[in-house]
Amino acid sequence: MTDISTLKIDGVRYIVTMDSDRRIVADGSVVITGNRISQVGKASDLSSVAVDRTIDGAGMVLTPGFVNGHMHISYAHAARGLFPDDLGAEYLPNVFRLQQAMTAEDEYSTSLLAIVELLKYGTTTFIDPGTTTHLDQCLAAYDQAGCRIVIGRSVQDRANPLNLPVYETDDAIRVTEEVMSLAESVSSGLVSAWSMPFSAEFCSPELLAACDRIASDHETRSTLHFTNGARWIEECRRTHGCSPTEYLDQCGILNPRMTLAHCLGIGADEARLIADRGTAVVMCPTAAVKGGAGTSANGLLPELLEYGATVGLGTDAGNNSNLLETLRSVYLAAVLYKDGRRDVGMIPAETALELGTIGGAAALGMGDMVGSIEPGKAADLVLFDTRRAEWGALHNPINNLVYNADGRSVHTVIVDGKVVVADHRPLFVDEAALVEEVQERGEALLKRTSVAFPPRWPVV
Ligand SMILES: [Zn+2]
Repeated sequence: MTDISTLKIDGVRYIVTMDSDRRIVADGSVVITGNRISQVGKASDLSSVAVDRTIDGAGMVLTPGFVNGHMHISYAHAARGLFPDDLGAEYLPNVFRLQQAMTAEDEYSTSLLAIVELLKYGTTTFIDPGTTTHLDQCLAAYDQAGCRIVIGRSVQDRANPLNLPVYETDDAIRVTEEVMSLAESVSSGLVSAWSMPFSAEFCSPELLAACDRIASDHETRSTLHFTNGARWIEECRRTHGCSPTEYLDQCGILNPRMTLAHCLGIGADEARLIADRGTAVVMCPTAAVKGGAGTSANGLLPELLEYGATVGLGTDAGNNSNLLETLRSVYLAAVLYKDGRRDVGMIPAETALELGTIGGAAALGMGDMVGSIEPGKAADLVLFDTRRAEWGALHNPINNLVYNADGRSVHTVIVDGKVVVADHRPLFVDEAALVEEVQERGEALLKRTSVAFPPRWPVV
């Protein structure tokens, strides 16, 4: 007898395994032992496997949990939808002003609501790029929800126009070390920590190198914002005589431990250098298009993939893209470059789905743990209910997943072998009560910061 529980998802219409052969198993079953996938195959071949519990997979498409490689979690749900589209340079200083005025309780509740949104629509692993203030409260929310998360502390030691706190270099290094210890003290196995210098623009070369060394010492990774506006590109050329990507290389941080978020404003030679150095990339198309980044015309996702770079997807903040659903980033990745390049051969649906699953896992250094449905991998799984209008007709589950379905049809979500969403509802919190609480917290936050952007149309 064993006390490790077993679970079978039985008779699934299609299992989209994302394994190395990209097999799609029709009428399949998956057996989970403890927190790991133990068997994947035809339902008929696994019918005799005895388990503690069974989930009926009839009418369902089963995918790996989606991976979101850049998702600022903490503040946005208290103020989402507040800012007008054309706020421009005023946008980020207002964002950080609001965030820095949040209480620990605000941050716990808004983070928990963001996790509800992520999990309900199929994202099981995500990176918070370190801009939370009350990390203990966020950890409590992560633990309550049971999601897989990368944490960190965003640090910078240069004055910046974003209202980000400026650390002494030594303090920024100490803070980065501390967050490593914090993650290592969490026993669930679902939390890991990375070094998170905010950007090469706002960090000294000494800090960038120190953050990379800490990542190396702790056998983990780093991430930074790599958005490369015109001012920074010009400064790189003038001060360092090179491109922003070459500057990272000069600093010694363009290496396989680094994941570059956004990756905007680069040329083809820079895309090739990123790929050659083994540096990973997380692109955030939902944020890029809303922010007018020109990504459909100038984004180099096709080139990064062509040159062999490891690429995943993110959504950035809930106040930037305004949504956290990784599948919508998958959709945009599939359509943006077809339009921008006038070439329907750009980023096929299969490639887009890879970016949100196995590719995203690789970009987070988690390719051996998540991103596909294979024996030995963590049981992070999503069941889509195909008995809904947006799924009909179902002849090719990949096309339907990328182009016509979305997170609304996510029925059940499992993380690390544990069911966290069932019948479209989170099991770890009362969603409606939490929405109401966050609304109240958001209204109080705006009042005490005097941040106000009323709708352009009269509210009567
Ligand atoms: Zn960011």
